[in-house]
Amino acid sequence: MHQIPPFTTAEETKLLKKEIMQEIERVIDSGQFILGPDVKNLEKEVAEYLNVKYAIGLNSGTDALIIALRALDIQEGDEVIVPSFTFFATAEAVEHVGATPVFIDVDESTYNIDISLMENLITKKTKAIIPVHLFGHAVNMDPLMEIANNYNLIVIEDVAQAFGGEYKGQKTGSIGHIGCFSFFPTKNLGAYGDGGLIVTDDEEIYEMASMLRAHGSKKKYHNELVGYNSRLDSIQAAILRVKLNSIEEWNEGRRRVDQQYKELLSDLDGIILPTEMGGTKHVYHQFTIRVLNGKRDKLQAYLKEQGIGTMVYYPTPVHKLPLYNSSIKLPISEMLADEVLSLPMYPHLSIDEINKIGHIIKRFL
Ligand SMILES: *Cc1c(COP(=O)(O)O)cnc(C)c1O
Repeated sequence: MHQIPPFTTAEETKLLKKEIMQEIERVIDSGQFILGPDVKNLEKEVAEYLNVKYAIGLNSGTDALIIALRALDIQEGDEVIVPSFTFFATAEAVEHVGATPVFIDVDESTYNIDISLMENLITKKTKAIIPVHLFGHAVNMDPLMEIANNYNLIVIEDVAQAFGGEYKGQKTGSIGHIGCFSFFPTKNLGAYGDGGLIVTDDEEIYEMASMLRAHGSKKKYHNELVGYNSRLDSIQAAILRVKLNSIEEWNEGRRRVDQQYKELLSDLDGIILPTEMGGTKHVYHQFTIRVLNGKRDKLQAYLKEQGIGTMVYYPTPVHKLPLYNSSIKLPISEMLADEVLSLPMYPHLSIDEINKIGHIIKRFL
């Protein structure tokens, strides 16, 4: 039976393997493995692509969030608003700097922060908000920035899932004060290991983040702060530079897959398809449907029997994870956790494969 995994890099690797192997060899021969010209060039190219002044290559997306919070001096006693329907790292980074995550519910059609709930959560202690462009879909940034400006809040965009996404013609990550990317291998722009990056237009933030990346020092052996070892590897940067050339094409591939799924699955009772908000360019890190009437797990098992792999992002909203087990009620996050199912999504998923998945879902419903 032909298996369809939820995600695979097999096709893109086939296309680029030769070029990537040459790049890896070049880095090995150069003898420079940490930062160096490859990281500098990647930073320059990403900054150009996103139309921002500065980019800083890091170890991971999680480190990008932690270093962003540190660079903005967010610390114990401060509150940071984060969505509950996200990957744990968004809240974990806030905990790491000693601040308190304050969970906000999401909107049921975009799965992103429900901005109408924001003002109610703002207190004297609120310092920042972390909008997550979940599944590649831009948060409605205009009203969010307006509230943030009114209350003097810092906006840290979690762009781990939305490299190349757009909001009103601007790239996601370039709209708030600082944008945090992940190059984890399954992300839209993925390395062959861990990697992350911060972008900003603010020189002071750039200087601070650069210091924090390398043990709190600008000059070697002249440490000014307690920082981290969070430098991006040269080999990963070289691989990412090759893949960056294809990111537009691959995001278009994901959008094609979205269109083909929607042609097959629209107007079906029992499921709700993902939406694309006007003015945004969704880059479909995930194609996540909602399965109604308590049937999500049954549909997932049914697809698995036929060789179709799917994922549940996320089965538990962050405020309900064992760490918090909070009694606060965030009804939409809790409902989505029970209903969401992410279908196979990658740029080279074929029309035959999409048809097969669509037919199986129709038969189930
Ligand atoms: C992947 C991810 C992160 C963390 O990135 P890593 O590179 O895995 O550390 C943070 N936030 C979100 C929303 C993510 O999806």
